[in-house]
Amino acid sequence: MLLITCHVCGAQGDETDFHYGGQAHVRRPATANPEDISEAAQRDYMYTRLNPKGLHFERWRCDRGCGKWFHAARDTVTMAFAATYGVTERPPAHIIAMIPETNPWHGVFTEAPVSEPHPEEAHRAVSKDGEPS
Ligand SMILES: [Zn+2]
Repeated sequence: MLLITCHVCGAQGDETDFHYGGQAHVRRPATANPEDISEAAQRDYMYTRLNPKGLHFERWRCDRGCGKWFHAARDTVTMAFAATYGVTERPPAHIIAMIPETNPWHGVFTEAPVSEPHPEEAHRAVSKDGEPS
């Protein structure tokens, strides 16, 4: 049984009180024109996921509390949650430092957070005459 604490409202429960939402930090390919996305990039976005033995980063939803999504760092061997954090946040620095070199997550969080707009927002920022507004 998993013991989970909601990052948003603090509700506690087991896995039946929460909903697993798959791998965290899956980024849609950045482009203003979806036709420019390669087949490989679209395939990776839709289907390719990490499957580490050990520390993993996941999405969870608080079903019986606030209903909000949050991210969690969880060990897939011990099932223990190492940390929870907001969906727009990076994992805590001490958790990033714990990722071993053999884990496919190693190096994923080494770059500074990207602050570029979501592709749909970038698309909306183009005016009717095609010039950025
Ligand atoms: Zn909650």
